[in-house]
This record gives sequence, structure tokens and C-alpha cells, in this order.
Amino acid sequence: MTKLRLAVVGAGPAGIYASDILLKAERKFEVSIDLFEQLPAPYGLVRYGVAPDHPRIKGIINALRDVLDRGDIRIFGNVRYGEDVTLDDLKKHYNAVIFATGAIRDHSLDIPGVELAGSYGAAAFVNWYDGHPDVPRDWPLDQKSVAVVGNGNVALDVSRILAKHAEDLLVTEIPDNVYERLQASEVTDVHVFGRRGPAQVKFTPLELRELGEMNDVDMILYDEDFDYDEASKEAIASNKQVMVIDRVLQKWRQRETGQASRRLHLHFFAKPLEVVDDGEGNVAAFRYERTRPDGEGGVEGTGEIREIAIGQLYRAIGYFGSPLDGIPFDEKLGILPNHEGRVMDRATNEQVHGVYATGWIKRGPIGLIGHTKSDAMETVSHIINDQGNWWTPEFPDEQAIVDVLNERGVEYTDLDGWHNLDAHEIALGEPHDRARIKVVPRDEMVKISRGR
Ligand code: NAP
Repeated sequence: MTKLRLAVVGAGPAGIYASDILLKAERKFEVSIDLFEQLPAPYGLVRYGVAPDHPRIKGIINALRDVLDRGDIRIFGNVRYGEDVTLDDLKKHYNAVIFATGAIRDHSLDIPGVELAGSYGAAAFVNWYDGHPDVPRDWPLDQKSVAVVGNGNVALDVSRILAKHAEDLLVTEIPDNVYERLQASEVTDVHVFGRRGPAQVKFTPLELRELGEMNDVDMILYDEDFDYDEASKEAIASNKQVMVIDRVLQKWRQRETGQASRRLHLHFFAKPLEVVDDGEGNVAAFRYERTRPDGEGGVEGTGEIREIAIGQLYRAIGYFGSPLDGIPFDEKLGILPNHEGRVMDRATNEQVHGVYATGWIKRGPIGLIGHTKSDAMETVSHIINDQGNWWTPEFPDEQAIVDVLNERGVEYTDLDGWHNLDAHEIALGEPHDRARIKVVPRDEMVKISRGR
């Protein structure tokens, strides 16, 4: 009987779901899976992308952990694809690879001033408040007014964390350094800018509602944004999600404001033009053009230019995938070019043998974590049917790759290591009545995982 030795790169939901689905799938061969992850801990976006005050979504970790705890997937954490293991290594040791590396960079915003000090991509800030080991420990929150560009759920996450009082985050797993910085934050006004109208937002009702529930934060809306055109009225009447969003916003418009110490302003019909320099290379203002509906769900510029003084700007306009060594990459979409998860060489329009993709690196950074499951099913079904296109590894023995990592001195972490770190973080939280406190520095994570 043939055996499939499979490497999966990326231990976020996409990689874990794909592994689990393959192990449970009907097939005529045995499977053994090695899961490689560049971070010392698994769970990818759920650990390092989902906001700490979203315990329900963070709870997906429990299901992912159940899969890993079965013990039928080997984990190699703290192993970087392209450095610690190469495509050549994978070809020598496996029949195929699934890349599930996600989309962790910010999409670029091509306007002047975007490189100024105080202008940030949302991904960096999200990684910071979620205790990602590879971003700076400190984050300056020394400005009163800040802007967030974008009308998706990431923009809401970022603006909520910026506006929320640190004490209200203490029940979560935020790392100590994040709590301390948020506690000292000088932010009083968070301005969120969408380039289209309230009926064209990308965020979802549940996430919007949460903003209005923040303690001591007023929601500020502007009447000029609610003069709906026919297309918007139609969207509100025909789409339940848009209807609920409109209802929430209309309710906030009736609320009394003025008592809270912080404000979250929602500005619509604002197309980014420039991040204005204070003369010394720092963000001083956000310049935008007022837009109006074009009657088809889009917008057009009105020519009216506005400027608002702010000290920081966060771009939350979508994520973008990163290229992987030796694998074709679509620079425009930020994904691995693929047909239903089979990675394709666009030049020849042929399948790249043995190489598959799933999750955001396959379909782009859209959709909720649950959507990743159906995505993984599609990719896995192709792997099962593609036996003729697999690689033939020189060293299929399971010990061989372990020897390679050891010879290279790669300090990989495994399932037991993750249990060590998990238990350590839970113990750190216990005296403070918190579910866990995250360990942030990479070397410390590795040290605890490896029992040193
Ligand atoms: P997103 O949903 O695609 O939203 C991106 C936003 O950026 C849109 O409002 C878009 O406006 C705007 N935008 C794009 N280019 C722009 C430009 N050049 N200038 C101004 N605005 C621009 O992306 P996301 O917020 O990064 O979220 C990614 C996925 O993760 C989504 O599926 C999201 O639901 C999910 N997520 C969920 C949660 C949760 O709590 N449930 C939290 C975070 C993320 P247009 O619509 O006009 O293009």
C-alpha cells in the first residue's frame, strides 16, 4: 500500500484543518503528516490575529488543540520554511506539501506620506497587542487623535483596542507589556475612515455592535453620511446584514454624547489622499477627498478636500500574502497561483507537482475562519486523487527530517513543548484570575517549550 508523507507548512487553522481532514478522509493509502510552523507556538491567526477581547473566536483554539492532542500529526515549531527547511528538503522527505501560510502582511496604501513616522499597518499593531514574538515589544500611544483607514473587521478591531480602556481588557490574555502601554495611552479620539458609505461597509453587525458597548467611549456619527442614495436604500432593504448595520448606526445617532472621556468617530465617504508631514517626518494630519455614491454601490470623488489633525494613522485595508521560496507567487493578489488548491505555474499553465495551497494563501485574505474548512476539503480531495503527481522522496523515513533539523541545530518545538508553554502561560494568569498571560519573546517561548 502506498503511503503519503505530507508536509504542511503553517500551523494556523488552515494547516490544522487540512491535516485533520486528510487524516479522516476516505482513501486507499496511509498518511503521515509533519506540520511545520515558523513560530514556536501553533494556531497562527487565532493566537496572533484575533483580538484578545474576542474570546469566542479565540475559543477555536480548543478545537484545534483537540486535533493536535490526538498525536497523529507531528509538529515542528520554530522552523522557518526557506531557511531551516527548503523546498529541496521537502522534496527529499515528502510526497507533497500543502502551504497554509496565510496572509500576514498589510496591503499597501499608495498615497504620499504613508511612510511617515506614526503611520502603521494594522497587521503590525494587531501582532503587537496579540504578543507576536517578532514585532517590537513597545508601541507608542502618545497621541490624542488617531486615524484608522478601512471599513472591515480588522479596522474595527484596531479602533476598538485603541479606544477601549485598558482595565476593560484585563480579563483577556493580553501580555503584560501591552496592558501597561494601553493603560498609559493618551488616545482620546479614534477616527475611522471608510471610502464608501454605511451601506457598503465590509465589517459585520456583531463586530459593529461591540463598539457601542464600550465603557466610557462615545460613538460619534455625522449626519452628512446618512443621506442615502437609491442603491444604498435598496441594499438596506434587501440585505439583512446591511439592514442590521444601518439599524445599529441609526440608534447611535440618537444617543446622547458628551459625557465619555473617549470618542470613536465613524466617517464615511472619505477617500484617502495623503498623510500630511509635520515638517519633521511625523504624521500631522490625514487628508482625504469627500466622495459621493455613484449609484451602483461605488463612489466618485466630489473634489472637496478635507484635512483632519491626527498624530497616528493605521491602515486596515486588508492583508496580503508573502512569497515562498521556490514557489510561484501572484504579486497582484498576494497568493500562490492555484486551481482549487493545486499550485499552478502561470507561465506554462501547468500544475506544479507535489505543491498545494489552502487558506488565505490560496484564496486571499477574505472570509471567516470557518470558511477555511471547506477550502481545505477541496485541496485535500485533489491531493488524494493526484497520486501520479506526487514527488518520490529519497528519504521517506520519518526520522530522516528530524536528523536534518538536528544536524542544522534548529531548535524546533513539538507537541510536548507546546503543552509546556501552554501550562506555563496558564500558570502565569492564575494568580491574577486570568485564563492565561502570553509569553512574548521568541527565545523565552522556545526555552519554556524545550523544558529549559
Ligand atoms: P476587508 O474585510 O477586506 O476590509 C478592507 C477594508 O479596507 C474595506 O472597507 C475596503 O473598502 C477598505 N479599503 C481597501 N483598499 C482601500 C483603499 N485603497 N483606501 C481606503 N480603503 C480601502 O479586510 P479586513 O478588515 O482586513 O478583514 C479580512 C477578513 O478577516 C475579513 O473576512 C474579516 O471579516 C475577517 N475578520 C473577522 C474578524 C471578526 O472579528 N469576526 C476580525 C478581523 C478580521 P472597500 O470595501 O471600498 O474596498
